[in-house]
Amino acid sequence: MKILIAASEAFPFCKTGGLADVTGALAQVFARTPDAEVVLFLPRYRNVGGGAFSPKACGGSFLIPVGNRVETATMSRVQWGKAAVYFIENPKYFDRPGMYRTAAGDYEDNDERFLFFSRAVLEGAKFIGFKPDVIHCHDWQTGLVPAYLRTLYRIDSFYAKTASVFTIHNIAYQGMFPKETLLKAGFTWLDFTPEKLEYYGGVNYMKAALAYADLITTVSPTYASEIQYRPEFGHGMEGLLKHRTSDLFGILNGIDEEIWDPATDTFLERGYELKSFQRGKAACKKALQKELDLEENKDLILAGVVSRLDHQKGLDTLLRVAPEFADKMQFVVLGSGDPGLADGFTALAAANPKRVAFRSGMDEALAHKIYGAADIFVMPSRFEPCGLSQMISMRYGTLPVVTRTGGLKDTVFYNGEPKDSNGFAIDHADEGQLRSVLGHIVSLYGWRENWNLMVRNAMRGDYAWHKSAEAYIKLFNIAIQRRQL
Ligand code: ADP
Repeated sequence: MKILIAASEAFPFCKTGGLADVTGALAQVFARTPDAEVVLFLPRYRNVGGGAFSPKACGGSFLIPVGNRVETATMSRVQWGKAAVYFIENPKYFDRPGMYRTAAGDYEDNDERFLFFSRAVLEGAKFIGFKPDVIHCHDWQTGLVPAYLRTLYRIDSFYAKTASVFTIHNIAYQGMFPKETLLKAGFTWLDFTPEKLEYYGGVNYMKAALAYADLITTVSPTYASEIQYRPEFGHGMEGLLKHRTSDLFGILNGIDEEIWDPATDTFLERGYELKSFQRGKAACKKALQKELDLEENKDLILAGVVSRLDHQKGLDTLLRVAPEFADKMQFVVLGSGDPGLADGFTALAAANPKRVAFRSGMDEALAHKIYGAADIFVMPSRFEPCGLSQMISMRYGTLPVVTRTGGLKDTVFYNGEPKDSNGFAIDHADEGQLRSVLGHIVSLYGWRENWNLMVRNAMRGDYAWHKSAEAYIKLFNIAIQRRQL
C-alpha cells in the first residue's frame, strides 16, 4: 500500500503541539507495516529539524496557480527510517519566524500558504512519481487536498484510484477565510454551495475536507461522539459530521514508547520502571526541586503541568485553586501561549517561591523531567480531542488529574476504587471540582499502598501505537476498496 501523509507539522522536523507527535509517529508506524510504502509531505519552514537533518534538493521545480498568479515550488527530501520525507519549498510562504503566526496573530495569508501547500502536495507526488493508494491528511491546513482530489483533479488519471482519509486533531481550528479564497484556490463558483465549500459566506478548509474526504477519523472515540452530538464541541460542524456519521471513526492516539520511556530517558536524574518507580521518581523529584529552587522535600505532592497555555486546557481553574494548596503541594508549570495565563503563573510563583515554579516556552528536557518527577499531572481541559500528556504521565507513573472529556475520558479511569483507577477525573473544568479532587489527592497520598496501586495501574497501561496503526490501515483498505468500485 502506498501511503502519502500530508501534514503541516511532524516531529522531529517541525512542531507546535500534539499534532506533530502524531503525524511523526504515524509515518514511522505505517512505514513499518509490511507492504507499506510511506512518504510524508511537510512545508519547509525556517530551520526545519533544528539543523539535525540535511534534506537534499530534489532538483527542478513546478508551478502552483494561486488566483491569477503562479508560485514556484521546489522540493527537498530526507530519508527518515523507512519513511521518505519531502519538504515543499517556497521561501516567501514558509521561510518565516513562526509556522502559523507571530506574537501579533495568525499570518494574514494563511489561506494562500496552505492552499499552495495542499496543491503542491498533489503536484509534488506526481513530480516524484509516487502514485498514492491513499492520502492521509491532517487538520485544516491540508483540508483542501480531499477537495482538490474530487474537483480539480477528478479527471486526472494519476489520482483516479487514490482515496483520501482526513483526520481531525482539533475541530476548534478550522481555517476559515473570506469567499475570495475560493478563486485563489482555483475552485469555481459552482463549488461554492453549502454541500461543498461554502460556509457562512466564506471558505472553510476543515469543512472542505469533511465534505470531500472518503473517510474521516478523529483521535478518540469520545471526541468522535462529542463533535457530532454536542454543538459546543462540534464548532458548527456537527450537522455535516452527523450526515457523515457512517464514515466517521474515532481512533485513539498512542505515544512513542521509545521517546517516552522512563527506563531509558536520559533527561531523568535516574531511570526507572515498574519495579523501581519509587526510588526512581524520588530521585527525579529531588533533582527537579533543586533545579527549580523549590523546597527539597520528598513528602510534598509535586503537581506538574506541561501544556500549551490556552483556554482549552482549563489551567485558569488551576491558577485560581493552586494558592489554597500551596501549603500542602508544589506546582511546576511549563507552558507557552496565552500571555495572561503566563503572567498569572509568574505571579503565583513569585508569591510562593519555594512551592511554585513556572517556566515559559517550549522545553523538551524540562518536560521530560516534570513527567518523571511529578506525583500528579494536572490537565483539566474544557475539551480534549485525545491528549498525549496524560498518557505520557501515566507511563511515567505520574497520576493524571483530568476532566471526563474526549480522549481523557477514554484513557483515564477513576471510580474511587484505587484498584480500578489509573488517575483522577472530574466532570468539568470547574474550580469547585478541582478543589475537591486536589483535597482528596492530598489525603490519599498518605495511603501509599493505594497510591502505589494506582501508579502501577497507570504504568501498566498500553499506550503504544500498534493498535491504532492497525485500525488506520484497516480504514485505508476500506477507503481504497471504495475507490476501486
Ligand atoms: P495539544 O496537542 O493540545 O497541545 P497534547 O496533550 O495532545 O496537547 O500534546 C501536547 C504535547 O506537547 C505533549 O507531548 C507535551 O509534552 C508537549 N508540550 C506541550 N507544551 C510543551 C512545552 N511548553 N514544552 C515542551 N513540550 C510541550
